[in-house]
Amino acid sequence: MDPHSLDTATHLVRAGRPHGPGAGLNPPVDLNSTYVAGTDRDYARGGNHTWDAFEAALGPLEGGQALAFASGMGAISAVLALVPVGGTVVAPTHAYSGTGAALTEAEREGRLRVRRVAIDDTAAVQQALAGADLLWVESPTNPMLEVADLPALFSAARAAGAIGVCDNTFSTPLLQRPLADGADIVVHSATKYLAGHADVLMGATVTADPQVHQRLLTRRTLGGAVPGPMEVWLALRGMRTLHLRVERSCDNAAELARRLEGHPLVERLRYPGSGAILAIEPVGGEAAARRVEEAVQVFTCATSLGGVESLLERRRRHPLEPASVPESLLRLSVGIESVQDLIADLEQALTLAHATTD
Ligand SMILES: *Cc1c(COP(=O)(O)O)cnc(C)c1O
Repeated sequence: MDPHSLDTATHLVRAGRPHGPGAGLNPPVDLNSTYVAGTDRDYARGGNHTWDAFEAALGPLEGGQALAFASGMGAISAVLALVPVGGTVVAPTHAYSGTGAALTEAEREGRLRVRRVAIDDTAAVQQALAGADLLWVESPTNPMLEVADLPALFSAARAAGAIGVCDNTFSTPLLQRPLADGADIVVHSATKYLAGHADVLMGATVTADPQVHQRLLTRRTLGGAVPGPMEVWLALRGMRTLHLRVERSCDNAAELARRLEGHPLVERLRYPGSGAILAIEPVGGEAAARRVEEAVQVFTCATSLGGVESLLERRRRHPLEPASVPESLLRLSVGIESVQDLIADLEQALTLAHATTD
């Protein structure tokens, strides 16, 4: 059978496994800093056999070649380092807070110029791309859940001579494949859905352009943001069930969105129509949102997303979150629990928050 004809679910279960008589079903945790001379694999900062297995699983899902990094920010830093000093990056106003902060820092130090745009305003992005070196896209955005027109934005980036990048952490390659929509590079915080169990920090890049891949590999090897083999092994094990987790989380999120739309204790619901991240603004503003954080029992109040467990948090509790994000906005990362329990939990938390907020 041609391995490229396999369905995603089958690929996720099979990819990166050793083969041959006597081989373990799982790749070993390759705990080595160096290798016997004679091949390209000589020192483990340049490559590791456990990384190979993870990269073989992720790359084809996105339609390119993957590189494992120590964290999402490690991958993002390697991509931003492709921009020459003094170059211009066009980025969403509501980019992931770490990406936003890294751009602000680079701007303050005079290394990059940054043009921030509403990424769902295609005409504004097109205008901002004149003379730019790199377009950074997130869709849906964090935590406002704005949706970008990926094919239009990446064809405009190409026309402007800018590298097109998509942070695909929120969607995963199961819901959105940016390389097929014209992006040059996809980045992931594998910490989130790919690994999926809130037990690992990891990142990745994927590109179908061999030259860009080589440049990113050089950035990884020289920048040194390399993951430990145990983390990569855990991330790959998590990816074996990515399709099941994403499907269940998305079903749960869709059902929650149906129940929260027009709810008397919810002033505003944001749900982009797919994915498993929602945002709600409870009636009663910031005070009510703080009470919901304290009152939930099945949801956990914690930052991060993409795990089997449902999390929520008021995003403005983070000082880096832009002021355009409402004070009362609660971001929900919907997990794989029983949706009835999730609904009942939000109902009781919203009711309690409303009853105890002046
Ligand atoms: C978490 C996250 C990151 C950063 O990833 P780390 O693994 O925490 O370094 C980048 N982008 C998005 C969209 C994220 O959610």
